[in-house]
Amino acid sequence: MALSIRIESVSAGFNGKPAVRDLTFEAGAGKATVILGPSGSGKTTTLRIIAGLTRPDSGRVFIGDSLASGPGIIISPSRRRIGMVFQSLALWPHMTVEGNLKFVSDRTGRDGRIEKALSLVGLLDRRKNYPAELSGGEQQRVALARALVSEPEILLLDEPLASLDDALRRKMLDFMSDLRSRIGVTAVLVTHNREEALAFADSIVVMKDGCIRQQGSPSDIWNRPAGRFVASLLGENNLLDAEFVREGVVKTVLGEFKSPSGMTGKRVCAAIRPADLEIGPGGGARISGRVLGSAFRGGRYLVRIDVSGAEVAAESHNALREGEIVGLSLRRDPQVPEDV
Ligand code: ATP
Repeated sequence: MALSIRIESVSAGFNGKPAVRDLTFEAGAGKATVILGPSGSGKTTTLRIIAGLTRPDSGRVFIGDSLASGPGIIISPSRRRIGMVFQSLALWPHMTVEGNLKFVSDRTGRDGRIEKALSLVGLLDRRKNYPAELSGGEQQRVALARALVSEPEILLLDEPLASLDDALRRKMLDFMSDLRSRIGVTAVLVTHNREEALAFADSIVVMKDGCIRQQGSPSDIWNRPAGRFVASLLGENNLLDAEFVREGVVKTVLGEFKSPSGMTGKRVCAAIRPADLEIGPGGGARISGRVLGSAFRGGRYLVRIDVSGAEVAAESHNALREGEIVGLSLRRDPQVPEDV
């Protein structure tokens, strides 16, 4: 049975400097949770705390119903039922694939677990090969098999795909995601890559400066970002100055829109994805602007448009001429995140 992970008010630091502060979140049993954030935001420290490799200064970590880290308590990593894959892979070059898997635990040699783990990743026929005889993707799969060989309840993945090229990264991501849901293991993946996060996650924890900025499903985070930082993290977004002109109505350079809360006069920002802005003919349009330039983004163009002195980006199937006057309409109301 897969186990959940619960982090309660956890803080940790190094040499008196905080690395993570007051973290509270849950990684659901049998679900994929992604910790997403820029470099130095505390992602790896959080993963190491879950693994029992870093002791928190305060707070508690539960694995299932058991307290794994807390005041005066730290259960060792080997007793946490976890498997880990690191960015560096850390395969022993002088050992065969099979040897690398055997090395993690004496027990794994018995009862066919090595065969099972290698067949899960499709590498049973490469068991006698050395890591140098395998491709990057195959080495990645050996590292995954090694993490699974002890049949863990929890799989911790620390930027495992960062060293792969784009095409292989996507392939491995799909592979890992399918495998994870097939065996139903609880997984926590750390990444700074938004595509990886969106593709892998049932739930995303967004971190910045050692703190959690938002946790939710990929569509929650995409559609209802908690602030400017989260709004920009998952993809291009127009962040426009906005003001509540009356209760429940915000005004932006693109017009007035309904928004659930906000006192009159409150200044906020309104977030509109480029795909939610439709470009039409300029003549007679309610909102119009002047094209500043178009950039090809593969199958579509991102068009920069000046609207009354503010620059907005919209998507188009065609490149538009610089200086052309176009009309703009919104496919849906903008998001108005709390400005944090
Ligand atoms: P990256 O994506 O670059 O790996 P991250 O989000 O995983 O970054 P962490 O590695 O958790 O971030 O680091 C968070 C902060 O803690 C950083 O300021 C880092 O320098 C610091 N830190 C992490 N590990 C140690 C350590 N062993 N000793 C001292 N400082 C550390």
